[in-house]
Amino acid sequence: MTRPDLSPSDRTGGRWQLQFDALGGWGISLVVHTMLLLLLALVVLPIVPAEQERILTVSTVENDSEPVVDVVEIQPQEIIEGSTSIAAEAVDAVNLAETPSPVTVNVDRKSLSLPPSLAELLGPEVDRQSDFAGRSEAARAALVRGFGGTTASEAAVTSGLRWLAEHQNADGSWNFAHSREECQEDCTGDGLLDNRPVAATSMALLCFLGAGHTHEEGKYRRVVRDGVRYLMRRREFSEYGIDFRNGAGTSAMYSHGLATIALCEAYGLSGDALLKRPAQLAVNFIVNAQDPAIGGWRYQFRPPDAVGDTSVVGWQVMALASARIAGLDVPRKSRQRAMRFLDSVQLEDGVYYGYVKPQRKASTTAIGLLCRLYLGWATDRPAVHRGVEFLAGRGPDRNNMYYNYYATQVLHHTGGEAWVRWNESMRAWLVRTQERDGHAAGSWRIRNGTGSLRDPHAKTGGRLYITCLAILTLEVYYRHLPLYQRQSVQAEM
Ligand SMILES: [Zn+2]
Repeated sequence: MTRPDLSPSDRTGGRWQLQFDALGGWGISLVVHTMLLLLLALVVLPIVPAEQERILTVSTVENDSEPVVDVVEIQPQEIIEGSTSIAAEAVDAVNLAETPSPVTVNVDRKSLSLPPSLAELLGPEVDRQSDFAGRSEAARAALVRGFGGTTASEAAVTSGLRWLAEHQNADGSWNFAHSREECQEDCTGDGLLDNRPVAATSMALLCFLGAGHTHEEGKYRRVVRDGVRYLMRRREFSEYGIDFRNGAGTSAMYSHGLATIALCEAYGLSGDALLKRPAQLAVNFIVNAQDPAIGGWRYQFRPPDAVGDTSVVGWQVMALASARIAGLDVPRKSRQRAMRFLDSVQLEDGVYYGYVKPQRKASTTAIGLLCRLYLGWATDRPAVHRGVEFLAGRGPDRNNMYYNYYATQVLHHTGGEAWVRWNESMRAWLVRTQERDGHAAGSWRIRNGTGSLRDPHAKTGGRLYITCLAILTLEVYYRHLPLYQRQSVQAEM
């Protein structure tokens, strides 16, 4: 088992924050910036004993004596065409009065045109080998046009980010119970999961990072800086790496997975060396938390009885993928074990995936397929093709943004006509349902009305959660470069 060396000299995490605080302004040139960092490192390091760092960490740890408000667990559901899915009804009885159906797909066949190759879109000046390349200013515009985004979808992302920024707390965090005085009656839908700020902060940060906003660049650099700083204050050192579980309960490994993705992306996009070690240690925690036999992850560190679930596995695999994109170490063994877990919940050689056992479930099939693609399956593999057909045949689901988030990525990565059709309806629907008035402008509301988004976690995650998923879904054009195009670009290069 890998046991990361946690000698005081490795705890770069604590220094990041101190140096950040000491730096203050952001207008300084890179050279001065770097020199200052070096100087500060010399000045600061010797006078920050490890003990002090630990005290700082412990003092910010949340009181976990409160019972955990349950269910960030996904209960996968089948979509019965034209009717509300059973699982969604069980979770959210308020929706029973309505009978939502999968979003209507109404695409003029003549408008179906496939995007030109990635190489053409990005041009020679963009580093096409990096999966984060699409988030640069120049590439982003090209990819929005090339992969089916619109001015309206980008405006929706922009106002979504503005809403998020307005709901950041003074300490840099976000909370699923997001509302504040200024919200008045507008921003309803506080999440019941009000004691998991690490997960909420990470989700919000992913939205900013997804559009290329880092703590060093972009209009929201202070917002991102404060959010990353908050995460850094919440890290806990353990013998297995940095632990972001933020307490016990069913959300623990969700929190950790999300925080790890955020940290890996913040590091990968900025290249800020001070984030490298903390990001690597958070990845190490995931590696150590995996069940050594079956290869799954569950709510807590190493699942008892080797039970993993596809939903928790999804976030951990995405974290490992982000780590690799950022150039961090992810053991091959860990990826192979994740494949073994997926084998244990698949049907028909990997077309369908269940939650904790083999099943033909839409949401977990979307997660399973996305994991497979990031773990190395080719997009033209027959099982992927059939799985995509299954998702495309169902279309986006009004009851389940969580499913939409994953399925949108799978279809984006595999491309073709199925993606064009999916995207037309997903994009139009998200743009149409975004709030436009009052303090809520830029967010998406949950339940109460035909224009709302629903999700099995709508009550626990609330407006903040659903808004983050909607923004991330609308960022799909540039957040990650599509795998089918990357494979061809790599062949060209
Ligand atoms: Zn508000």
